[in-house]
Amino acid sequence: MEDIKKNLETVNGKIKEAADGCGRNADDIILVAVSKTRSPEEVNTAIDAGVTDIGENKVQEIMDKYDEIKPVRWHLIGHLQTNKVKYIIDKVDMIHSVDSMKLAKEINKRAKAHEKTMDILVQINPAQEESKFGVSIDEAGDLVREILDSCENIRIKGLMSVAPIAEDPRDVKPYFDGVKAKYDELAKIEHPNLDFKYLSMGMSHDFQVAIEAGSNLVRVGSAIFGERDYELYRKQQAEKKAREQEENK
Ligand SMILES: *Cc1c(COP(=O)(O)O)cnc(C)c1O
Repeated sequence: MEDIKKNLETVNGKIKEAADGCGRNADDIILVAVSKTRSPEEVNTAIDAGVTDIGENKVQEIMDKYDEIKPVRWHLIGHLQTNKVKYIIDKVDMIHSVDSMKLAKEINKRAKAHEKTMDILVQINPAQEESKFGVSIDEAGDLVREILDSCENIRIKGLMSVAPIAEDPRDVKPYFDGVKAKYDELAKIEHPNLDFKYLSMGMSHDFQVAIEAGSNLVRVGSAIFGERDYELYRKQQAEKKAREQEENK
């Protein structure tokens, strides 16, 4: 647990270094601590150490942890199936992974039922990798306009992207630059439900390069919490369920 605080200091130092290096203000960059596979205790330790925003990529993990986590802003950063929107519509502050009209319409419907406006980002898959979700840079404009035309309970706050994995993160800078150019273009659209504020790019291995390209929201997991152990997480969840069943007998 000691490590989380120290790692956080290191990450914040690197954010500052990257911002300074390109004449930006580090205060303008939001750190989303990605807490997938991490226990509520670990997440709360990060929150005590100053984390204001956490990101999860699975609906189930949000449901599992939600009640045990201290007040914080929640980001859904992973692929979202339409049939699961209802579970998180009243829990998360922003959905980063909108990449289809089908999903946007479901979010809109659920947001309306909750009498709220949901903040979203449109996810771009800049290298068009099969393994990743998101629309191409060329398709982004059409999706943004279509959402604005038909989803009055959605507010589009910007774009999100996951770059390809590269040995040298500098190699993916052109992808980040491409997304940033599209961001600047779409930010000019005038519409009450479009308010571009966030460009969500950069993970543990490439957030400094993403900041140089203009990202103002970085999603960092392993650099804060250490390497993920999915097997251990599944075991802990199974034990927790067994305990709860025992208590409810
Ligand atoms: C897991 C994840 C991250 C964080 O990854 P790290 O490499 O651990 O920093 C960021 N964004 C998304 C969409 C993720 O699923």
